[in-house]
Amino acid sequence: MILWNDRLIPRSEASVDIEDRGYQFGDGIYEVIRVYGGKPFYLAEHLERLEKSARAIRLPLPWDSGLLAEKLNQLVEANRLVEGTIYLQVTRGPAPRNHAFPEKAEPVLVAYTTEVPRPEAMLKEGIRTCTHKDIRWLRCDIKSLNLLGAVLAKQEAVEKGCKEAILVRDGTVTEGSSSNVFIVREGTLYTHPADNLILHGITRAIVLKCAGEAGIPVKEEAFSVDALHDADEVFITGTMVEVCPVTHVDDRKIGSGVPGPVTRRLQQAFDEQIARQCGA
Ligand code: PMP
Repeated sequence: MILWNDRLIPRSEASVDIEDRGYQFGDGIYEVIRVYGGKPFYLAEHLERLEKSARAIRLPLPWDSGLLAEKLNQLVEANRLVEGTIYLQVTRGPAPRNHAFPEKAEPVLVAYTTEVPRPEAMLKEGIRTCTHKDIRWLRCDIKSLNLLGAVLAKQEAVEKGCKEAILVRDGTVTEGSSSNVFIVREGTLYTHPADNLILHGITRAIVLKCAGEAGIPVKEEAFSVDALHDADEVFITGTMVEVCPVTHVDDRKIGSGVPGPVTRRLQQAFDEQIARQCGA
């Protein structure tokens, strides 16, 4: 079943209007929410970010977060989802094609679930990454459907045998194509500040909280590509990748080329969050 506006219906019964503004302009927003042990993880935070994105693009959401959370829980239950994701998007809806907002358009909300296992091998062994110019717009804090900048960067990374592209704007590292980036230098954790140049990742915020609890010093400061290459440890965070060690950047080994101790400690703290929230 999928959630189509306020109804749970079979996927085959849903149809997208060819003039839906999400389809034509990328005029919409989305969230990806992890489900562990049948329970959505940090759902309230994802819905709060959805509301922020909606306000930023002046899109009226059909319901408040409380009601939406209820609907999403019903969707997870209807699909008996244990381990996977909820994809949720809201577009400005169908209207005759014109860049300016239509006078009346009904937003279209869609949510569906997918079974996805945790990325065990990546979490254990780490991943190879490469840097890529950040060609995206200046409102990366909005979780917009316009993802071409990220798509092109990720595709180049995949063609180079890498799992993630690390984006660089004016010489500094912003974030990954679909993740946030952290480095460890002399025991201190660095990540780009939560401004307009990055998505304010939910996993990023969880990791910052865990680091604070573990007494790991944190600096939300932009750092250079050189600092990335020379870091003691690098990891990326995201709903799908969790806290994922990076062993290589641009074919250069990070540290000794295996996941480092601070990364391991934060992975453990993240697992404890999953156990605490979802009992999984
Ligand atoms: N940055 C970008 C560009 C992303 O697409 C994602 C994935 N949603 C993230 C960061 C990580 O955010 P989160 O931890 O909320 O999944």
